Amino acid sequence: MLIQTSLPLIEQMALERETENQRFVEELKTMNSEEVDAKVQQLNTAVEPQINCTQCGNCCKSLMVNVTNEEADNAATHLEITREEFDTRYLEKGSHELMIMNRMPCAFLSNNACTIYEHRFAGCREFPALHLPHFTRRLFTVMMHYNRCPIIFNVVEALKTETSFLPNLPE
Ligand code: SF4
Ligand code: SF4
Repeated sequence: MLIQTSLPLIEQMALERETENQRFVEELKTMNSEEVDAKVQQLNTAVEPQINCTQCGNCCKSLMVNVTNEEADNAATHLEITREEFDTRYLEKGSHELMIMNRMPCAFLSNNACTIYEHRFAGCREFPALHLPHFTRRLFTVMMHYNRCPIIFNVVEALKTETSFLPNLPE
C-alpha cells in the first residue's frame, strides 16, 4: 500500500476527489456496516504504524477539542495551577456547559508533540477514531477530516480499493 503523508498533496487531492468521495460515501451507506467496520479496522491497523503523528500534528493544529470538567481538573492539577487559572488560560465555554480549548493550534502542542500527553483529553486520545465501530454512521465526521488527517486519507483510499469502488475517471 502506497502511503501518502504530504499534507499539501492530501489537501489538493481532497479537493479534486470531492465528487468521487460523495459517491463513495453514498455507496458505503448501502453496505453491511459490520463488514465495513472490519475492513476499516484492518486497514487502520496497517496504516497507523506507517504514519508518524509527531511529524504531522495536524489535528492538534486544526481542531477545537472538547474538554470535560474532570479532564480540566486533571490537567490543572498536572500543570500545578488552579482550575480557575486553567479555565481562563485555556478554555472557552459554550452553551450547555460545553467547554472547548480556546485556541488553534492547541496551547499544549510544542514541536508537534503534546506537552500534557498523559493527561490529554478523550477527544485527543480517540482521534481519528477509526478503531471504533459504526464507521458508516460517522461518515460525515470522518470525511470532514479526510483532508487534514493522513491516517483517515490513507484508510479511506485503501477502503475504496478493498470495496472495489470505481474511482472517477480523470477529466
Ligand atoms: S491536548 Fe495534546 S493531543 Fe490534545 S489537541 Fe492539545 S496538543 Fe493535541
Ligand atoms: S491523528 Fe492524523 S492529523 Fe493527527 S497527527 Fe496523526 S496523522 Fe496527523
